[in-house]
Parts: sequence; structure tokens; C-alpha cells
Amino acid sequence: MSDKVYGIDLGTTYSAVALVNDDGMPEIVKNFVGEDTTPSVVFFDEDGTVVIGSQAKQTQVSDPENACSLIKRHMGEEFPLEFRGREYTPESISALILKELVSDANSQNNLDISKVVITVPAYFGTQERQATKQAGEIAGLEVVGIIPEPVAAAISLCARQEQEQTLLIFDLGGGTFDTTILKSCAGQVEVVAIDGNRLLGGADWDQCLEDIFLDRFKEQAGLDDDNDPSFDEDFMTELRVEVEDAKKTLTQRASANILLRYQDKKEHVKVTREEFEEATSHLVAQTIEITRRVIETAQNKFPGLTVDRYLLVGGSSRMPMIRTTLAEAGFNAENTDFDLSVAKGAAIFGQGELP
Ligand code: ADP
Ligand code: MG
Repeated sequence: MSDKVYGIDLGTTYSAVALVNDDGMPEIVKNFVGEDTTPSVVFFDEDGTVVIGSQAKQTQVSDPENACSLIKRHMGEEFPLEFRGREYTPESISALILKELVSDANSQNNLDISKVVITVPAYFGTQERQATKQAGEIAGLEVVGIIPEPVAAAISLCARQEQEQTLLIFDLGGGTFDTTILKSCAGQVEVVAIDGNRLLGGADWDQCLEDIFLDRFKEQAGLDDDNDPSFDEDFMTELRVEVEDAKKTLTQRASANILLRYQDKKEHVKVTREEFEEATSHLVAQTIEITRRVIETAQNKFPGLTVDRYLLVGGSSRMPMIRTTLAEAGFNAENTDFDLSVAKGAAIFGQGELP
């Protein structure tokens, strides 16, 4: 039995596991397919096997009935679920994810860790936190801490900062946008104000990009409304699986291509980053508006408050348009480890909590 602690970011769409290594540095533990983050998706197979992660996410597109995603939105609620004739709760579904994350991390590193710190949104109340803790316990884990995600992010970024600083954490994930103002000093973090939109996230960017690819394919293939591929399930499944990857490509490159097939039509469809940014500018604008609002709330509490650092967290903050639009609005935001910062901070916190 190891005394080490995993930090777990149990996300709405993706989860991550981190560990403080022997050099005292936080480090992400990759999953068995070598990814830093694992989709928080559970798929219930016919033969009774439960599949978690990328494979579950892929299968979900074509077989949504037997899959469960976004369960975090129901944590702490009375929300019974049924899959393949068995009953589940938000806690028991989350437990399946946690169990997989930990057993996977342990087998990757030949470890035997069962102590964890799990992060939750800053707006989670007692009931939601309790449900999250219970999920850990159902998974057979010893939950040594439940801490807010922005606090974990702040710890991972400024744990060694001695001077008091006011931080704004801008966390744009897969299905939610959260922004938090915190005061941080030598590892002590206090939440000053929180705001966000629980229904705004990477999935909205995916939807916009899907629409562009679909329209362009129809145009290139000369299809009209009488022969609309969007009614073809197989076609749409293929498109949806490819769109999120294309979006990630657009973070790295100026354009992304998808090969789309429908009936006898086969087209390479290309979308540029510029086109994608234009189609989603209204979404970025919403995050800016909420950012302004949270600063106002914090200033109402602490007149004269100024933000020292704006920190970009969450997978969707990787998109270059986020930093540039924030800069245009007068917020000079810094890149961080994005979708990995929260898990790393939880690991640092967990290590400090040990006797
Ligand atoms: P959660 O909201 O579950 O905490 P994350 O912070 O991991 O999730 O963010 C997940 C979102 O980030 C997804 O919508 C994913 O497509 C998006 N994402 C991850 N990497 C990139 C990237 N390189 N470029 C654009 N979006 C990304
Ligand atoms: Mg998150």
C-alpha cells in the first residue's frame, strides 16, 4: 500500500489523474491509451462489460442508449438511471469512472495507490460534494480531500508564491465555463467570487464546426435538401467523431480537413481557423462578458480590487482565439497546463495533506 495520493480532476467531459513524483513535481499519469485525459463516458456492453474513456465515447455516438456521459451535471441529485437492466445513481456511475482512472493509473506505474483528492466545481454545495466523496468510496478509494477546481488550479500555478496575489481563473471545459477570482498567498487560497455558464463549453464549438463541415460538404457534393446527409445516421456519426479532432487540429494549424463520404459522393472538406473563429466569435464573447461580470462582483466585495494574473484553464482555453480575444478586451491572460492544471493542483494538495 502506497502512501502517495492521486489528484483527480473528475470532469464533466474529461477527467485527469496526477501524482507528485519523487522529485516533488506534479505529473500527469497517462491512461492506458497514452492520453493525458480520459473522456468521462461510460458504455455498458451487451456482455456486461463496462467500458470507460475514448472507446466508450466513440461507441456512444452510434449507440447512445447504452452509454452515459455528463453525469457530473447530476451529482447530488436524486437521479436514477438504468442500463442493461441494472440500476445506477450519479454516484455509482462516477464511481465506475474513478475506479477505472485509479486502477489504470496504478497499473501504468506499477503502483498501489488508493488515497485520492477529488476536485469539484466551486459552486458545488455540501450535497454535491458529499455525493462526490461517496462516489470515491463506492470505488473503494480513500478520499482524503474534496477541493474546488479553481483552488486546485491556483495551487498548481502559484503554490510557491509568497506574496498575496489576486488571480482570475478562466476555465473553459467541454460542457461548462467557470470563472473564479481568488486570493492566493503561500499555498493558501480563498475564493472571492465565482461566475460562469453551466451550459457553455467545447461542445458548442464542436456544434458550430460540425455545421460548417456539413454545409460545405453539401455544397461541394452538390446535394440539395431532398438528399440531405444530415438525416443519415452513419454519416452524422462519422462526422461527429471527426469534428472534435478537427477542432483540436485548428488549435495547432491554420486549417483542418475531413474526408466525408455519403452515397456515391466523396469529398475532402477543408475549414480554416479564420472561418472557425468567425463562426464561434459569439461564444467567446459570452465568456468575456461573464469575465467582466465576475470582476465586478469581486470589486463590489473588495472595492479597489485588481486582478494580478489571468490564468487560462480547461481544454477549450487551448484554442488561440480565447487568449487573443481576452487580450483585445484588455485581459492579458497566461497559458497554463490547461486541462491538466486542476489534477496537478489536487495532487500537490493531497501530498501536503498527508501526515
Ligand atoms: P471538463 O470540462 O470535463 O473539465 P476539459 O477541461 O478537459 O474538460 O476540456 C474538454 C474540452 O476541451 C473538450 O471540448 C475538448 O474538445 C477541448 N479540447 C481539448 N484539447 C483541445 C485542443 N487542443 N484544442 C481545442 N479544444 C480542445
Ligand atoms: Mg474541468
